[in-house]
Amino acid sequence: MKNSPCPDCSAEVKIPEDAVDGEIVVCPDCGLELQVKKDPAGNTELAQVTKEREDWGE
Ligand SMILES: [Zn+2]
Repeated sequence: MKNSPCPDCSAEVKIPEDAVDGEIVVCPDCGLELQVKKDPAGNTELAQVTKEREDWGE
């Protein structure tokens, strides 16, 4: 399992070993949603998700 720092609060966010490109992980500290980005070299990084839907808390 890899960790990557949250771009917002710098907390360590766990990235599952089997995470797929585009998978969403949530920062345990600030709750920010982050999208897993994989490049062809196998490196993994997190990108901040811009919310487009507002179906939270239905
Ligand atoms: Zn955070």
